[in-house]
Amino acid sequence: MEQVFAPWRIEWVRRDEKNPDVESCVFCELPERDADRENLVVARSTHAFVLLNNAPYNPGHVMVVPRVHGGAYEALDDDVLLDHARLKRRTIRALDAAVEPHAYNVGMNLGGGPAGGSIADHVHTHVVPRYEGDTNFMPVVSDTKVVVEAIRETYDHLHEAFAAQEGATATDGETAVDLDLD
Ligand SMILES: [Zn+2]
Repeated sequence: MEQVFAPWRIEWVRRDEKNPDVESCVFCELPERDADRENLVVARSTHAFVLLNNAPYNPGHVMVVPRVHGGAYEALDDDVLLDHARLKRRTIRALDAAVEPHAYNVGMNLGGGPAGGSIADHVHTHVVPRYEGDTNFMPVVSDTKVVVEAIRETYDHLHEAFAAQEGATATDGETAVDLDLD
């Protein structure tokens, strides 16, 4: 049987290690914390933010997430939709500069269940850079320490790429880049 490579069908976002039982939404919580680099939040716009996906590891795999909590894409306000779309465009530009992929997969899991994904109650778009031959590369990178170091490096490259964009404000490398997209 042919295996379809679809990394957005499986996703995992690090939960709070101190409170593993916390039921709250990570997409609501992570951008509120005061540790963007640690939490892999790399850029923010008015209504959305960009978060690196850490497992499965694929260099530069990010999620573009509206700030408002909710699982229904069609319920998002026009302001949020536009800001989210603009941030996706900026994210592709930043990835072009930071990790130079050959292609992209961009997609959402809506409604959970057969759509896959593990967080159905907060809309998010996966942006996955693709490289010639990356399906062969993927299984090689399974060492957790290697992945953690690699993801910090990707964070820094991507942070730099966002910081170089029009309307960007970057205070330091530990804090997500603020983007004015209007
Ligand atoms: Zn949420």
